[in-house]
Amino acid sequence: MTLPADARALAREDVARLPLHVPDPGSCDIDLADNTCLWGSPPAAMESLTQAASVSRYPSLYSEPLRGSLLRYVGMHEAGDIDVATGCGSDDVLDSAMRAFGAPGDSIAWCAPTFSMIPVFAQLNGLRRVVVPLREDFDLDAERLVDARARITYICAPNNPTGTAVSRAAVEHVVAQAVGIVIIDEAYAEFAPEVFVDLAARSDRVIVTRTFSKAFGLAGLRIGFGIGAGATMRHIERARGPYKVGAIAERAVEAVLSDQENGVGWVGAQARRVIENRGRLIAALGSLGMTTLPSAANFVMIPHAAAREIQRGLATRGVLVRAFGGLPLAIPEFARSDGRALRVGVGPWPMMERFLAVLVEVGT
Ligand SMILES: *Cc1c(COP(=O)(O)O)cnc(C)c1O
Repeated sequence: MTLPADARALAREDVARLPLHVPDPGSCDIDLADNTCLWGSPPAAMESLTQAASVSRYPSLYSEPLRGSLLRYVGMHEAGDIDVATGCGSDDVLDSAMRAFGAPGDSIAWCAPTFSMIPVFAQLNGLRRVVVPLREDFDLDAERLVDARARITYICAPNNPTGTAVSRAAVEHVVAQAVGIVIIDEAYAEFAPEVFVDLAARSDRVIVTRTFSKAFGLAGLRIGFGIGAGATMRHIERARGPYKVGAIAERAVEAVLSDQENGVGWVGAQARRVIENRGRLIAALGSLGMTTLPSAANFVMIPHAAAREIQRGLATRGVLVRAFGGLPLAIPEFARSDGRALRVGVGPWPMMERFLAVLVEVGT
């Protein structure tokens, strides 16, 4: 057998079909497009970054020194057989969990629309996708998720990109009835009225994920973690491999978690500001006559048929937001907007005022 001569022909077909992640366009004054913390980073983390650290050796294998602090932060340190698995962002934990529990050809189910990396990781891991639209009230369609009988069920709570909360009844129904692994992605837990990390103690089939990229203002460090039964976490680590969290990130996170005032306290204070400004932003958009979805996260979704044009108009005036298309028309808000919407990050009020002023200038 002769092999084709170039790398392009040798690339795995399913991988070659994947697009590269498209970055947001060029320079801008205000970036409201990626849901990161618009107040910067906790002082405790910045202080840790100024101190000399030895990096000639490898970091810890699986962030063992962080495990106690992570469990304490999520309030699960007294919960019996519960442990964590860290990763290069929670993306790495999600990807590794899919690989650990799903063999190529197995299925993964989720409610759409959801986090854009989930279909990508599913494809990379050779998983078959079962996609069910969110219900008209934006809650999970728990019955259809359970009926999918998937090897893995993914729940995003609160959901990205809609920002909407998921009900405890729906999550508990899926956890109780699903035949396979249930992943609950809590990237926006700090902004939500309710979290589900307690369900990690309910079953060894439940994996809850958290990140330092959003409320913690540490997206550039690339660190996130999963919470679940010890044996479940070890499976994720087997699929993930050693040395995925750098020594600098590990130290900065320890500094934040162990500092009430300039670490976790700072994070909590910014999260409260997000919640306050989120309400003000939704009210201001309403008075401009724009529809918004209720948000339990640090961003707001605005269904709008001209989402793409508005996004471009904002970008030329230095304000970046994210535009979405192809949203499920089964949901009335999206049917009315031709499946299109904008997603806007919530930040300090002067930034929000600037966004609103430019939005008026662009015209809706
Ligand atoms: C941003 C985000 C993540 C994670 O990001 P990492 O930076 O890889 O930790 C995970 N899930 C959702 C839903 C997100 O929006």
